[in-house]
Amino acid sequence: MNYFAGIDIGSTAIKIALIDEEKKILASKVTPTGSHFRKNAVTALETMLAGIDLCMKDLSYMTSTGYGRKLMKESDESVSEITANAIGAIEAGRQQGGDIKTIINIGGQDTKAIQIDDMGTVTNFAMNDKCAAGTGKFLDVTAMNLEIELEELGDYHFNIKGAPLPINSTCVVFAESEIIGLLADGHGKEEIVAGIHYSIAKRTVRLAKRVGLDGNVYFDGGPALNKGLVAAMEDELGKKLVIPDHPQITTALGAAVLAHEAFYDEMDEEE
Ligand code: ADP
Repeated sequence: MNYFAGIDIGSTAIKIALIDEEKKILASKVTPTGSHFRKNAVTALETMLAGIDLCMKDLSYMTSTGYGRKLMKESDESVSEITANAIGAIEAGRQQGGDIKTIINIGGQDTKAIQIDDMGTVTNFAMNDKCAAGTGKFLDVTAMNLEIELEELGDYHFNIKGAPLPINSTCVVFAESEIIGLLADGHGKEEIVAGIHYSIAKRTVRLAKRVGLDGNVYFDGGPALNKGLVAAMEDELGKKLVIPDHPQITTALGAAVLAHEAFYDEMDEEE
């Protein structure tokens, strides 16, 4: 049996996907990136493999992607996260029976909108990596300031009693003071959370409009786990989003699929 690993070293989290010859996902792992990218990535990979009685030697091919991809010396190749994200979205979309045209990815420190054609080739692309206000960082700061868990943001969004509060700050640092000010004025956490979700959704939809929003729009990255943010995005877009079963590992899955392709391409060349 051949095994293929995709490893996505993101700014916030390391994601790993392991697939078999049929491209079936056998295991996956998400762990904080921390400051020792390579060491943390290797430890996470070994732990994931040990969980299914495998070790590094059992891997036929490994492809790394993401912010820290070049540091992963154990990989056979590295690819850009845009390529890996597009391939992963197509694979996850195919498994869900949906045809993907636009991908919106919100990461820990950047946001991307990618348009692909029927062959999965990237035809257009826009990125915000200059400002944290439309990224997962904004969610992390919100949860921390409101003293709630990241995983609870969705519930707070849906338990709103009034209207989502407008968040005026265009910078996460100022938004932090704005959140504290809103709490001091006696506003509910629910209304603040919903306001933050709409603020991120508005920025993201504005970015995605630059590449086009035709056909099915796929939403992935860690923040796609937040159902409140998904609802705000759908409201702003005026249509339903396609959310994969495991939105945070799409790019790692794409890297694993590319590892699978590279392995069989090399075998064909050798024959
Ligand atoms: P990157 O690839 O840039 O490291 P990810 O796609 O891994 O980014 O997303 C990281 C972000 O996902 C975090 O900043 C956090 O805001 C968000 N996130 C992670 N897990 C959850 C969760 N369970 N619920 C809501 N948001 C989450």
